[in-house]
Amino acid sequence: MLRKWVETLVLSTRSEVVRKTKLELRLRDSAREIRNLRDVLEATRIDAQTDALTGLANRRHFEEMLRKCSEEATSDGNPLTLVIADIDYFKRFNDDHGHVTGDQVLRLVARTLTDHMVDRAIITRFGGEEFAIILPDTYLNDGKLYAEAVRQALAKRELIKQSTNEKLGRITISVGIAAYKLGDTPNSLIERADQALFAAKRTGRNRTVTQDVINR
Ligand code: GH3
Ligand code: MG
Ligand code: MG
Repeated sequence: MLRKWVETLVLSTRSEVVRKTKLELRLRDSAREIRNLRDVLEATRIDAQTDALTGLANRRHFEEMLRKCSEEATSDGNPLTLVIADIDYFKRFNDDHGHVTGDQVLRLVARTLTDHMVDRAIITRFGGEEFAIILPDTYLNDGKLYAEAVRQALAKRELIKQSTNEKLGRITISVGIAAYKLGDTPNSLIERADQALFAAKRTGRNRTVTQDVINR
């Protein structure tokens, strides 16, 4: 009687161990699956914020960050500067050298903006051949220094087509720069940087213009 009881107990303990091991394996699988899903989700999130051609942040991320930075500037009173850069006569460049080479120029501009990056700069492709750079904790004049460094670096660079060694001349950018002021919305700040950019185009291109100059 006792033997039978012990045998039953041993058997049931064994099956309990098997059940537990199976459960542990299933849990481990689930944990791995959750980790994978989390990675996929993170990659998708980054993808949704990234411009595929240049690897910079895209317009969607720009808008989100400008809203955040404007709110911060409103609440903590720190400066905030917005830079908008636009490639000069880029339509003509595409017409002369083709869209594929034009795409390489867009990558070059993106790289130059990044190479001169200042602390906390959020460098984005605003659209087409336009780039917007948010500079938190930065005054207008420091924004101008950054923009000038990028403009000059691009202007002095002679472009050469890699596949043929053909000389393509130079490309330049025009830049508008505006500083956040109390009461600004993201749109009103963009508007002023755009007006400055327009003034840079109107007065000859290949230059940087700050909003305080045009509002004088
Ligand atoms: P401006 O000096 O007044 O800015 O003249 P622009 O020719 O640069 O300006 P416009 O707005 O007339 O033309 C912009 C050009 O940018 C037209 C379009 O073909 C080109 N462009 C926009 N997005 C891309 C892109 O993703 N790749 C290439 N290769 N070209 C692009
Ligand atoms: Mg443009
Ligand atoms: Mg242009």
